[in-house]
Amino acid sequence: MSDTPVRDAPAQSRASAKKELPEHFRDYKHVWVFIEQERGEVHPVSWELLGAGRKLADKLGVELAGVVLGGPGEATQHAVSEAFRYGADLAYLVEDPILADYRNEPYSKALTQLVNTHKPEILLLGATTLGRDLAGSVATTLLTGLTADCTELAVDADGSLAATRPTFGGSLLCTIYTLNYRPQMATVRPRQMPMPARQEDRTGRIVSFKAELDEESIVTKILRFIPDRDSAKSNLAFADVVVAGGLGLQSAENFQLVKGLASVLGAEFGGSRPLVQKGWIGSDRQIGQTGKTIRPKLYIAAGISGAIQHRVGVEGADMIVAINTDKNAPIFDFAHVGIVTDAIRLLPALTEAFRRRLSPHGRDRLAG
Ligand SMILES: Cc1cc2nc3c(=O)[nH]c(=O)nc-3n(C[C@H](O)[C@H](O)[C@H](O)COP(=O)(O)OP(=O)(O)OC[C@H]3O[C@@H](n4cnc5c(N)ncnc54)[C@H](O)[C@@H]3O)c2cc1C
Repeated sequence: MSDTPVRDAPAQSRASAKKELPEHFRDYKHVWVFIEQERGEVHPVSWELLGAGRKLADKLGVELAGVVLGGPGEATQHAVSEAFRYGADLAYLVEDPILADYRNEPYSKALTQLVNTHKPEILLLGATTLGRDLAGSVATTLLTGLTADCTELAVDADGSLAATRPTFGGSLLCTIYTLNYRPQMATVRPRQMPMPARQEDRTGRIVSFKAELDEESIVTKILRFIPDRDSAKSNLAFADVVVAGGLGLQSAENFQLVKGLASVLGAEFGGSRPLVQKGWIGSDRQIGQTGKTIRPKLYIAAGISGAIQHRVGVEGADMIVAINTDKNAPIFDFAHVGIVTDAIRLLPALTEAFRRRLSPHGRDRLAG
């Protein structure tokens, strides 16, 4: 996986599978990104996808659109303005009080109607809880293909979307095409793609769309909104500095050394999957293919072997420092700095050294 996950795909592989695109799909054009917003908060994966979508749209020579669904009001309008700043040329805006809070049925209906009317060739969504729920039902309703949890997106020589994702438990990558249906749909996990630059003065066209929605026919009702107090606890995916531990730490007590270093660095802590299975850390702290994808400026991995399922979650880090007793550990194949030593001895020394050197002000600088 490269730093720029949107790339030119090899065109040779699937000539035999390709049929002529049916006539009624030929006018499907442009790249769309679903802008996920809840209660006025846009999920940052939407901006990451606009960055990826921009490259696809430029390659295809088409426009990039943000799709904003929500209740009428300032928050929804703000999401539209932000979509322009992160690269959208236009925004499809579907405002309706029924869309104020996410529910699968009205969102699926509205998005499906929008697709059938304005016909995008590519539709991207974040692989979040909401995005996964919505993408699956929209793809099923439209009878088109959906590639979930992509790690790379590319445009083939003939203009098809090449959507790459891990397979066989993460040991292989496969590239999936939706050759004969439209739109070509894909979801991408947060932090998989780099965040594009925000351009303050950028603006674009708004296309308003009135979806045919009827509250009476929707079986799911919002009775009350109770925020999940735990959901904001771990900021792992968006942290600038992450310290993580693996089975090499040998015990839950030794894992506290990871937390100690993280605390001194003002960092988030995490770990490999076996640590979740052992109950040393919560599942929201797992890093990797079936956990969080991270893109910190600094990632310190202590006692982690660097299995492919862990690697895919950390490769976007600017600087990976690995501490491992085995000089042949796979993590040294992709770490920028490798330290061959006992992490249980090194971590307290590192923590102490950083504690002495970093004032609280210096800590801010490290994370900033
Ligand atoms: C479908 C699937 C999904 C998966 N998803 C994930 C995922 O999301 N995230 C994930 O992490 N894994 C995932 N895994 C598991 C993955 O394959 C590995 O088993 C796991 O990452 C290994 O964890 P580890 O590196 O902590 O342990 P190990 O592989 O056991 O490595 C421990 C390392 O510590 C080193 N070590 C030992 N003692 C010390 C010491 N004192 N100091 C320093 N180093 C020491 C050893 O040399 C070794 O390299 C998944 C597996 C499957 C099949």
